[in-house]
Amino acid sequence: MRTENLTESAAADTPKDLRSWLAHLAEHGKLAVAREGIDLADELAAVSKRLERDRAVLFPKPGGHDIPVVANLFAARDWVADAIGISEDQLLPRFIAAARTPLPTREVASGPVQEVVHSEVDLLKQLPIPKHNERDSGPYITAGLLIARNPRTGIQNVSIHRCQISGPNRIGVLLLPRHTLAYFRMAEETGGALEIAIVIGVHPALMLASQAIAALDEDEMEIAGALLGYPVDVVKCKTNSVRVPAHAEIVIEGRILPGVREPEGPFGEFPQYYGPRANREVIEVDLVTHRAQPIFHTIVGGSYEHLVLGGVPREATLLQHLWRSFPNVLDVRLTRGGVCRYHLAVQIDKTADGEPKNIIMSAFGAHYDIKQVVIVDKDVNISDPEEIEWAIATRFQCDRDLLVISGALGSKLDPTTKNGISAKMGLDATVPIDAPELDFKRIHVKGEEQVDLASVLQKDSSAAFYRILRGE
Ligand code: MN
Repeated sequence: MRTENLTESAAADTPKDLRSWLAHLAEHGKLAVAREGIDLADELAAVSKRLERDRAVLFPKPGGHDIPVVANLFAARDWVADAIGISEDQLLPRFIAAARTPLPTREVASGPVQEVVHSEVDLLKQLPIPKHNERDSGPYITAGLLIARNPRTGIQNVSIHRCQISGPNRIGVLLLPRHTLAYFRMAEETGGALEIAIVIGVHPALMLASQAIAALDEDEMEIAGALLGYPVDVVKCKTNSVRVPAHAEIVIEGRILPGVREPEGPFGEFPQYYGPRANREVIEVDLVTHRAQPIFHTIVGGSYEHLVLGGVPREATLLQHLWRSFPNVLDVRLTRGGVCRYHLAVQIDKTADGEPKNIIMSAFGAHYDIKQVVIVDKDVNISDPEEIEWAIATRFQCDRDLLVISGALGSKLDPTTKNGISAKMGLDATVPIDAPELDFKRIHVKGEEQVDLASVLQKDSSAAFYRILRGE
């Protein structure tokens, strides 16, 4: 019965949600279910990490809590494409198109996310909030969409922030210098709090859209609508004017307090290091709503899910940025070794010598996180780190093809930067335009791709080997 309901919710006439994605994963053998009672501190994250490149994992009754937790919504890059029903090669163009043609949300009077209302808030009692990496300061909400409204225009912003549980109704939050912080500064200037909601348990398209590098006052929920192909249904919060997805699992309503800063951190982050403890903004929670039987989504800090969720939307933004000046850019990849943020590989159909260095400079300008750019030709597979290294090994000379820029803005979470001041490195690993044809001709054995091993090899190689030794 339960399974039927899940499958029904994936049908075209009902909106996609977290459950429809989990049902899809379950049907394809990609959802593991843990035994009941896995500990919320460390153990849940440990099991998730062991499965991070393999399967999503659902934890029933974690730490004895009634609400189950799920992790690893993406265990491979092609799951991201699968979540929006396209092939992996369509992923970046589709994301770019969605960001260009956002679809406004549709306000509805009520939704499943408000089936249960807690006006007395005690976060750790009401929600199964895990502690993830070893040196984290404690339990964190890591997969919550923080929705805020521009106090002047009412336009909403959607982003993900790490949220430390600092008290029964108190959350310490890290706001990097982007849109939530801009809205909060507007509110704080007039002495007011910024109304917000933290939304937990949504369809992957909403998670992905939240990571789009959109402009201020471009509502990421409208990008989610364009990705899904229909408007996202939203309901008004009960204690403030923020609109939240009606088919989410859990909503925490609250305010970022003006003039208040309290210690937050350390917290294990995407560079595979801990972000430090410091005084940061504070959310006071007014109300919690959720479905009758909600599912809590968590992301282990620095896990593959964390990397790929931020990586793919950034790739789309970078590709779009580069296309403005260089239509011969074919594809981009933020590599896993570069924590899906710092190292960019760009595949081009080269038209002129020198052009790769222009593309490198353009990529550095596109996002301050980019620390290294490698430009390769169209015959190099940028999804394969060995191919990229091969291109550097055989098509790059550092005294001629290396570009170094000092003292630029980088990522503050990179521990080698000095308060975010970072050097940048660009590598042109492309073949010179006028190179003789055979100099850079990749060797190839004729017929390799067509070999049918089943028809070429003997079935029992060991027996065949001894027959040959015996001279039979
Ligand atoms: Mn934004």
